[in-house]
Amino acid sequence: MKGIGGFYYVSDGKGNVFECKARGRFRREGLKPMTGDLVEFEALRGGGSIEEILPRRNALVRPMAANIDKLLLVLSAGKPAPDLILADKLLIQAEKNKIEPVILINKTDMDRIQAEAIRRQYACYAVLLTSARTNEGIGPLKEILRGKSACFAGQSAVGKSSLLNRLDPALTLETGGLSKKTARGRHTTRQAELFYIADCDAYIIDTPGFSMFETGLDKSETAVYYPEFRIAAQACRFASCRHDKEPDCAVKAAVERGDIPRERYERYIRIIHSLEEK
Ligand code: GDP
Ligand code: ZN
Repeated sequence: MKGIGGFYYVSDGKGNVFECKARGRFRREGLKPMTGDLVEFEALRGGGSIEEILPRRNALVRPMAANIDKLLLVLSAGKPAPDLILADKLLIQAEKNKIEPVILINKTDMDRIQAEAIRRQYACYAVLLTSARTNEGIGPLKEILRGKSACFAGQSAVGKSSLLNRLDPALTLETGGLSKKTARGRHTTRQAELFYIADCDAYIIDTPGFSMFETGLDKSETAVYYPEFRIAAQACRFASCRHDKEPDCAVKAAVERGDIPRERYERYIRIIHSLEEK
């Protein structure tokens, strides 16, 4: 569930949590239990010992978390204004790490027109309109999460903690965006922590401050992670086409026809150019 100061909190899946130490051999092997790991452990009096870490389906560096099925990318339809470049980069990283993205356009109560406009740009993804204020979309969100493990991502103050509190009324995570971070202090780093939502049998990782994965991006592979480019890209003249200045680019033609959202394409160009500068 989480690790703090050399202790790992392990749930037995029946509501019991054991404060465990990791076997010494893990350190010698350069292994460290991560939030989200499936482990074999021995329950001892007053605690336990992690004996095995089961093979991971995937593992993120930031946040340190393993075995994630879905990335819940939260965007705000109101304030703060959505940072769609950040959203696109997170989507690329999710594809790269084989984590299924789900876009939550939150704060629909503030600006529904804006929410619909964002939705149109992401038609190739699973998109849900939500409001942690009015409870819109919370039922469908629980169905999307049923039996899965998921991780929230997105800018500060878009409503990640508020949505998590809505998923389980027993949770009381601090909300308030920027102010909550200031209140907590600049040097406080909180670990990724897993929460079990009994209502939909889901595990959700909460990581305050998490907005970006750490893995680098390579400009030549970036287009591969745009699902809506894939079919068109097969008809580009060059197999190595980056869909930028190349002639006979079928992706650009699809943008002109309106089959690929122009805003998504223009941000893609900005992203690959910023990678070139690096
Ligand atoms: P986080 O930083 O992404 O975890 O965002 P928080 O959950 O702390 O929310 C930031 C602020 O936005 C808080 O003041 C919340 O009350 C508010 N908020 C969250 N969700 C909604 C929503 O759906 N509608 C409105 N109007 N405000 C929201
Ligand atoms: Zn092309």
